[in-house]
Amino acid sequence: MKEQEIRNREALNEYLELVRQDSETLLRDKSSFVSIACPGCASTSHAFQFEKFGFHYVQCRDCETLFVNPRPPYQELKRIYENSRSTKYWVEEFFLPVAEIRREKIFKPRAEFIGAEFPGLSQGRIGDVGAGFGLFLQELKKIWMGADLVAIEPSADMASICRSKGVSVIERMLEEMDPSPQFDLLTAFELFEHIYAPQEFLKKIFSLLKPGGYFLLTTLNGLGFDIQLLWERSKSVFPPNHLNFFNPRAISGLLERAGFETLNVTTPGELDWDIVEGIYQNEGTDPGRFFKTVSDHGTDQAKRELQTWIKNHRFSSHMRAIARK
Ligand SMILES: [Zn+2]
Repeated sequence: MKEQEIRNREALNEYLELVRQDSETLLRDKSSFVSIACPGCASTSHAFQFEKFGFHYVQCRDCETLFVNPRPPYQELKRIYENSRSTKYWVEEFFLPVAEIRREKIFKPRAEFIGAEFPGLSQGRIGDVGAGFGLFLQELKKIWMGADLVAIEPSADMASICRSKGVSVIERMLEEMDPSPQFDLLTAFELFEHIYAPQEFLKKIFSLLKPGGYFLLTTLNGLGFDIQLLWERSKSVFPPNHLNFFNPRAISGLLERAGFETLNVTTPGELDWDIVEGIYQNEGTDPGRFFKTVSDHGTDQAKRELQTWIKNHRFSSHMRAIARK
């Protein structure tokens, strides 16, 4: 898979400009901003790293989570997600034009992975938190025809698209659901970087799972290759949307503090090399001398093998964790 197939460079840059404008709006009144302890381990010891779009990113001295601090309160973030030009642009110009390619390259493999990883749940009740357009659940339905699949999706537009595809929907924020143990598996793809209060969020997930139920999440790894190389220049690092960058150790600790048993944390990412090479070759961003040398002189095989190494040794920026209640 190549970055450009699933993410149009011009559309991404336009989206990030709109996000920067959202940030400006939020920064006009910082009186409601909240200073927090580390969202990974609750430590209060952290070091300033950089400013981006006017927000400060700090890194925890204990678990190395990179996070926005102070941050806008939950209600303000919710307003951005529900009603902003950036969200509208993301849906209409960024996601929808590549939705079918993403179905093939991302959502179908994701459903196949779940089918293989949890064979005993094919008749179970499965919830996808932040289900978006329901593409993952649609693909899972093809594999698990007998499963009871539920999208948990607060956006009215996306919820209605899910329903039109025959996916049942709980149309609210997970944070606002009543706790009742009803799910065999909950999934949250690319969501944890956005969450205002990850520990409370996980406790709610825990309360919604049956005993022995599973939780699977994917999120960005702040100790992953492309984020480490580019740091504040990384296009994955943008406030107010991307607030938390955990890492394998931090996410395990976070899950365990919420009562889960962590079964495994992996970094199955395939795009780290490609993301850095794309920004170097197309936008002139300097990724460092060694990267440039490999990019300019390395064979395709050398680059592929490096990506395999990054993935296998848990240094990709795309991280996946599986936990059990
Ligand atoms: Zn920490």
